[in-house]
Order: sequence, then C-alpha cells, then structure tokens
Amino acid sequence: MVTCDPQHTVLMGDVAVRGASIVAIGPDADASLSGPRHIIDASGCVVMPGLVQTHIHLVQTLFRGLADDVPLLAWLRRFIWPLEAAHDESSLRASAELGAAELLLGGTTTILDMGTVHGHDAVFDALARSGLRALSGKAMMDTGDGVPKGLRETTRDSLGESERLSKAWSGAADGRLGYAYCPRFILSCMEALLRGCAEAAADKGTVVHTHAAEQAEERQAVRELLGDDDVAVLARLGITGERAVLAHGVQLTSEEMRQLAAAKTRVVHCPSSNLKLGSGIAQVQALRDAGVVVGIGADGAPCNNNLDGWLEMRLAALLAKFRSGTSSLPARAVLQMATLDGARIMGMAGTIGSLEVGKRADIVVVRVDGVHAAPAIDPVSALVYAAKAGDVRHVVIDGRPVVRDGELLTLDAARVAALAREEAPRVARRAGLG
Ligand SMILES: [Zn+2]
Repeated sequence: MVTCDPQHTVLMGDVAVRGASIVAIGPDADASLSGPRHIIDASGCVVMPGLVQTHIHLVQTLFRGLADDVPLLAWLRRFIWPLEAAHDESSLRASAELGAAELLLGGTTTILDMGTVHGHDAVFDALARSGLRALSGKAMMDTGDGVPKGLRETTRDSLGESERLSKAWSGAADGRLGYAYCPRFILSCMEALLRGCAEAAADKGTVVHTHAAEQAEERQAVRELLGDDDVAVLARLGITGERAVLAHGVQLTSEEMRQLAAAKTRVVHCPSSNLKLGSGIAQVQALRDAGVVVGIGADGAPCNNNLDGWLEMRLAALLAKFRSGTSSLPARAVLQMATLDGARIMGMAGTIGSLEVGKRADIVVVRVDGVHAAPAIDPVSALVYAAKAGDVRHVVIDGRPVVRDGELLTLDAARVAALAREEAPRVARRAGLG
C-alpha cells in the first residue's frame, strides 16, 4: 500500500472502510470491522489514494481530435471557442460523461474543472451521477478578441450565474461537489470580473481558478493590454493566496515564483497540454524549490488528447529531468503532486489525498503485476514510471465502489462513447467546423 501520507508511508496491509471513511490501515486493519463486510481483493496490486487532477475541462472532452496541431490563441479562437459556443444541453452532458468515465476508469477520483460559459448545470448533473468528487465552475468571460457571440456575457450576468450555480450545487451529491470561480484568463476578463471573482470566492471560502503564464504570445498580449505581467495583474485584483489556483505557469520568472510562494498561490502543471500547444516546459522543480504547491492536470482533451493522470505523472517526471537535471522531480514527488498536493490545492487536504485514518475513502487499486510493470519492487517507481490507466482495477469514492474489475459502475461506458460519437459531429457542424 502506498499511502501518500506526509511521511510517504509504504506498507503491507489492508485498509478498512466504514461508510465513507477510512477507519483503519495496516496488517490488522480488518479486525477493526465487525459484522458483514465487503472485501476487495488487491493481490498483485498497489492500493493508493485516488488521483487528484487540478486542471480539467470536461466540456471539451467531446472536442478530442478536433483541434490538433495549432498554438494556443489560434486553438482557442478558431476551434475551442466556436465549439464551446455551439454546445447545447445534450452535447454538454455527453462531453462531461465522456470525460468523467475516462477519469474514473483511469483512477482519478477528484478534479478541479473549468466549464464553458452557458449551461453548466448539465456538467454538474453528469458529475453527480458519475460519482466523481469535483470543484467545478462555469468559465467566466466578459470581453476579449475573437470571442464568439455565444460565449459573451456581461460582468454582472457572469457573476450572477456563478452565484446561482454555487447556491444550487455546492455540497450536492453527498458533499462531493463544490463550486469554483473560473475566470477563463486575463484576455477574456475585465478587471471588474476578476476582482468580483476574487471577492466571491473569498466570501464563500472556495477556490478561484484561472489560466496564467501559459504561452509567450498570450503573455505579450496581456503586457500590451494592461502594461504588466499576468501574475502581477491577478495579484493586484485579488487572485492570489492559497485559494488562487493558476493553471500552467510555463512562463514564470524566478522572481514571480518567489512571489507566488510567498503568497501561497497554487500552480497546476499540465505537461501534455504545454507540449502539444507548443507552450513550453514549466520549471516544476524550481517552483517546488521556491515553496510553491504544484498540482498536476491533463487540461482538456483537445490539447492532450487524454485525461490520463498516469501519463501526466510520467511526463512531468521525465520533462523535469530534461529541464533541470536527472535527479529532479523523483517519482515520490510527482506522486505527491497528483495526490496530497492536489488535495491541498483544492482545500481538501484534511479529507482526501492520502490514505489516513479519518479521511474519506477515495481509494484506487492498481495492478503492478503486468509484464510492463513487474517486478514492481519499488511500488512508487512502478506507479509513476510504468503503470498505465488500463492497470486500474478498482476505484472507490466516499467508500462506494465506482469501478470494479475495470468496469465503470456509475455510467454505462459503452453508451457514453456511443453518445460522444453521435454528439461530436453535431457540435462541430453547429460551430461551422463540420
Ligand atoms: Zn485549461
């Protein structure tokens, strides 16, 4: 068992769960339970906490393969924004279900998710049925070059809709769902909107999540527009501190890393997305050395094209060797980014992110006895460098099995994939891309 607790404890033994919580861990854990019990066999496997991915766009899963091989701003303006604007309720549902199914089958149990501007109830509804734990929020955008009509909203409407969604969904699905304020990025948000997000998130004790320092061209556009760098602009408007979660951070300077660390602002590393959009390689080791808590995320399917936490962990570790030396970002550190540090970023370190008595039972059972992972003498090495999403055998969230023997129990995976094949061409046609 790889507990991912702060001491990085690895042990042989069982984990005992009562209701939604872990009640014992270790060789005698079973003795703490009485009466009838449900036993999950984990022989040949590693038992670990569910992966936490802190930057996901479920609404984009349907666009997988529809926007390949273009840089960020063109990717947004020519493909992603028109596609998002063309979403309707049934395509949003299909997209969110497809993403949730992929995440759960791959052992991700918690996500921080940014939606699109309209119709976000459909995403929350899919999340509730899927069994995932999530902080999710509609994308907020009240300005910007190349933003299609269907994604434009006023500052007031944007904040009002977030307020409504927050009231409707915070604490839903037995407390698994929460609302995150998600202003898309500086170029699509007026100052009043960013300030409003920071105030509302602080007021509700929730997270404000945005993209920052992703790409040189984007960064230059911010500088020309506002005369300052994105991180400084965000900090000035209140998007700073431990409730502020910035996706990417590829372009950060050493001075900015120090400022983020001092403010306890969080950063999410999205290695596949950063490579595919040609954005660069974030300095993750330097960020961690500076004291920044860094999470990991697959971002959206059209810039990855998977939502696979194992791929992201492996890539993060390998890129760090290239970026800052072979001993950078060892397996243990990457695993921490994808579990306990992810939980910290979401403000959930007290309840998830590690297998510890009293925490919620978000548990993944991963095979490490396949020919591509054996002999798995060091289970942490096997998980980060050799395991694949397809090795995930069982997934439990809040004590409830959601994947059993590689089969999704909460959604019909075959139906979800079939629906995606039907809905994707329809959205593309409506977007004028079909
Ligand atoms: Zn993103």
